[in-house]
Amino acid sequence: MTERLYYDDAYLWEFDGKVTRMRPGKKQGTWEAALDRSAFYPTSGGQPYDTGKLFFSGGEACVTDVEADRDCEVWHTLDRMIPEGTEVHGVIDGKRRTDHMEQHGGEHMLAGAVWEKLQGTTIGLHLGQEDSTIDVALPEERTHLTEEEISLLEDTVNERIRLDAPIRCWFPEKEELKNLPLRKAPTVQEHVRIVAMGDFEMVACGGTHPSSTGRIGMLKILSVIPARGKARISFVCGGRAAAVFRKYMRCADKAGAALSCPVEKLSRTASELKSRLAEAERKANRFETRELLEKFRQAERTDDLKGITLSAVVTEETDARAVAAAVSEYISEKGKLLLLAAGERLTFARSEDVPVDMAVLIRRVGRGGGRPELAGGAGIPECVNVARKILITEMK
Ligand SMILES: [Zn+2]
Repeated sequence: MTERLYYDDAYLWEFDGKVTRMRPGKKQGTWEAALDRSAFYPTSGGQPYDTGKLFFSGGEACVTDVEADRDCEVWHTLDRMIPEGTEVHGVIDGKRRTDHMEQHGGEHMLAGAVWEKLQGTTIGLHLGQEDSTIDVALPEERTHLTEEEISLLEDTVNERIRLDAPIRCWFPEKEELKNLPLRKAPTVQEHVRIVAMGDFEMVACGGTHPSSTGRIGMLKILSVIPARGKARISFVCGGRAAAVFRKYMRCADKAGAALSCPVEKLSRTASELKSRLAEAERKANRFETRELLEKFRQAERTDDLKGITLSAVVTEETDARAVAAAVSEYISEKGKLLLLAAGERLTFARSEDVPVDMAVLIRRVGRGGGRPELAGGAGIPECVNVARKILITEMK
């Protein structure tokens, strides 16, 4: 059983220990070492493992993963073998661990505030590369939070962070444990470790925590979305919160400069621009539709087709909505047959009273299909000419 040094001091970045067991790792070329004592945190409770190095008289090994087994042995995945019995000096990546402690500590504070202010029960923590999430079961199975509720949670947590209250971890005796005001019941029965943050959060946890709430820095909620009947709250703390704030501010500043408006007016300016753009598109579309209709009429031929008007048109690629509008208006008149190639897109259409199957015709000259009165597909512009010749020959 490995003695876990981080229980007593979560800021212990260096320590001395001894390799008690060594075995091949799960990936080829890796090894796993168990130590008699270690400050490396093994993945558990949603908090990821520490990384770092083990130095010994024969050289050094990188620690790339850490996990604990059922016998409470902590296994360090290494990039090289170290003989059993070797004395080692461990050095932890303190930046990575500090970041994890900020997110993990913030999660406790957030879960405590969710319980106190909204009577929500937190189910699990996922500490990700970018942000962290908790799933919260809310009364009446709500899966959303209002803007006011999000502000209430952020304000509550950030005020408590600024109080810089001490964070204390200990293993209470059974009698003491029974009387502690825990936020939720412990999931283990033996060796229950308690974390208390000031007088506003107390729960069982085996993780690493900052020494006071002030060291969490700040908390920012990024989003709340429904997930499996719960509200999934995504958040960042500490250095990550500052980085997110910087990123969003720069995006907002750039967007404001591009739209020539102050950041506060971004959302109004963007919606105004969006409706102006939609109106401009509608106008352009109407213009294109009129132009197409004009082309259909200019290409009309009536000879040899028993009173039916045939229009064969080849044009450049045109907006699909304009094509659809022009075609539907054109064939709403009686006795019309239309063969259109707009770029590589074919549209063959006819009025209700014209007895030709356009879906069959389009398949004879190119690729596509549709209904007898309206078919679409792909082909070269020459397809239109071929189809026109077929119609003239067969309708004579
Ligand atoms: Zn914890």
